[in-house]
Amino acid sequence: MDSLRMDGKVALVTGVANHRSIAWAIAKALHAAGATLVFTYQGERLKEGVEELAGSLGSELVLPCDVTDEEEVAAVARSIEESHGRLHGLVHSIAFAKREELAGSYLDTSPEGFRIAQDISAYSLVTLCRHAAPLLSVEGGSVVALTYLGSERVVPHYNVMGIAKASLEAGIRYLAYDLGPKKIRVNGVSAGPIKTLASRAIAGFNDMLAHVEARAPLRRNVEVSEVAQAAAFLLSDLASGITGEVLYVDAGYHVMGM
Ligand code: NAP
Repeated sequence: MDSLRMDGKVALVTGVANHRSIAWAIAKALHAAGATLVFTYQGERLKEGVEELAGSLGSELVLPCDVTDEEEVAAVARSIEESHGRLHGLVHSIAFAKREELAGSYLDTSPEGFRIAQDISAYSLVTLCRHAAPLLSVEGGSVVALTYLGSERVVPHYNVMGIAKASLEAGIRYLAYDLGPKKIRVNGVSAGPIKTLASRAIAGFNDMLAHVEARAPLRRNVEVSEVAQAAAFLLSDLASGITGEVLYVDAGYHVMGM
């Protein structure tokens, strides 16, 4: 039987900003499953903190990567090729929109705000997959991207990020088709609201938490560890037949009609 164990497997984890990041919870779950981890961070400001977190899991390879800089993404792939020669997992846990676009109405979205949200939150999955594919195809691999229900339902204030997540989810399906023949699976985890650096930028975020707690079938919000376990499952061989899928880890909130 296939296993959740990932001993001898190498995974690249993007999007760790601090110990609250969903990417960090996923890293801990992958480490517990035995995987060797490579981390990226965006900007010098985060370097020390991510190196410290990575070090606590015994990871030495911590690389700079702004996903809008294709040369930096290519350099990450080259470093992994030199150090490990292959990759089994890729975690895309990256999103950004200008704070002013995450308040007020979607109608007021600026062309630049739209472009930035799409570039960083959706197109980045294409860039990362293109550069990681040769490494992921060596022994077969799995890509997981983090998404949110605002892609398909109107969540007030989520605005331009909802449109970026819709694009990300469509991208997951097209990439699953393109990369399937290379033994690479591509899936999404749609997480319920969790307090992190990124979510704090969304106006009325605490109201979202209260709303989910009152209405979700489980009558609570999800723990970040629950999102991480689902991501680890999709990255593991237990999910070997699953690709192009979005798995909801939201205490069931998405099934509700009202
Ligand atoms: P987070 O800790 O703030 O993580 C977001 C990460 O994206 C940060 O590490 C951030 O780095 C990085 N990033 C932004 N622009 C980047 C760029 N140009 N290049 C490389 N990295 C960049 O927040 P999070 O909540 O864990 O978010 C992770 C993912 O989960 C996102 O895709 C988010 O949409 C998704 N998600 C979150 C929730 C939630 O409620 N928290 C729910 C569903 C889905 P900087 O800090 O340097 O900008």
